[in-house]
Amino acid sequence: LVARMRAFGTTIFAEMSALAAETGSINLGQGFPDTDGPAAMLDRAVQAITAGANQYPPGPGILELRRAISEHRSAHYDLSYDPAGEILVTVGATEAIASAVLALCEPGDEVIAFEPYYDSYAASIALAQARLVAVTMRPVEGRFTFDPDELRAAVTPRTRVILVNSPHNPTGTVFTRAELEAIAELCQERGLIAVTDEVYEHLTFDGVEHIPLATLPGMRERTVMISSAGKTFSVTGWKTGWICAPPTLVTAVQTVKQFLTFTSSAPWQLAVAYGLRHELEWVSALRAGLQDKRDRLMEGLAAAGFSVLRPSGTYFVQTDIRPLGFTDGLELTRRLPELAGVVAIPTQVFYDHADRGRHFVRFAFCKKDEVIDEAVTRLKHLS
Ligand code: PMP
Ligand code: GLN
Repeated sequence: LVARMRAFGTTIFAEMSALAAETGSINLGQGFPDTDGPAAMLDRAVQAITAGANQYPPGPGILELRRAISEHRSAHYDLSYDPAGEILVTVGATEAIASAVLALCEPGDEVIAFEPYYDSYAASIALAQARLVAVTMRPVEGRFTFDPDELRAAVTPRTRVILVNSPHNPTGTVFTRAELEAIAELCQERGLIAVTDEVYEHLTFDGVEHIPLATLPGMRERTVMISSAGKTFSVTGWKTGWICAPPTLVTAVQTVKQFLTFTSSAPWQLAVAYGLRHELEWVSALRAGLQDKRDRLMEGLAAAGFSVLRPSGTYFVQTDIRPLGFTDGLELTRRLPELAGVVAIPTQVFYDHADRGRHFVRFAFCKKDEVIDEAVTRLKHLS
């Protein structure tokens, strides 16, 4: 293994899901739902296979899906992207992020990301031989946010890209317009490209709406907007994502993507096109259901003695474990199966400055109510 990848080992999601399987614990670690996506959309995938959509689709993705993505961007965000040249279908958001970083960064370039950050960012940046510069999000009145002055200070002449994830995994923060404006201003002042990870775009709560960075003045032309079907339609195993960006940026990303995977699986593309056109009501119901699950898990974790932070989006709740007498989330999550029969994710692994996240543990609530209830009952034995 090349030196720059040695530090990465096995992802925390693989480690913790294996631990859950070995110990028979309830898995509130890796974020995936335990119920299926919309039935008609699943049927559409089956139909696509039986109807013969089984050969290589075009490199940029099947036109029907690119059109559906374009219509969705336009209807939801009033953003216009041409299906011919401004949209590229990828193997999940993960490939979109990796291809974007590989396409845009020279060795030694710097990429700013907000920590705690989704784990694939650091690995993609390392693959590109670029350097990740982490700007720390900290809880302020129960909500993780960043300091605009720290963000500004993180930009150097080598900064090329800022990676912006909102709704943010693992904190559940949905960036406000003011936060996005601070980012947008910096991008324009310093000539940065924004790569936005918006995979939780529809999963927001309490009336909070996701605002794409590309909708801010001057940002569409410098933003690679990324999303995926996994979270929106509860099909994380379909690994169907996409980027929307101006033609020069799409061409750059596609140049890399075509040699990573050439193209992305056909049947899912047709099914996701159907989903984007016909299943957004299903998504609204999903979002309302998730909000109730969030509340259910938050209440249970608080009763079990955790200090709980309220997320405005995603699948995840952050907890501070210190009220229970623990200080190290990695140590606790490795022992949690034995202590309580539950698996969670130690937030510190998503930081460059691990000390700043040592006492946080992430729990997923994208699970059946009875699973959440049983997990919470078990966690009450901790105190
Ligand atoms: N970004 C974030 C913030 C995520 O949480 C995830 C994982 N679900 C991904 C990207 C990866 O998405 P996909 O499965 O579409 O590759
Ligand atoms: N996005 C999911 C999470 O944060 C898991 C993705 C993965 O397993 N790589 O839990």
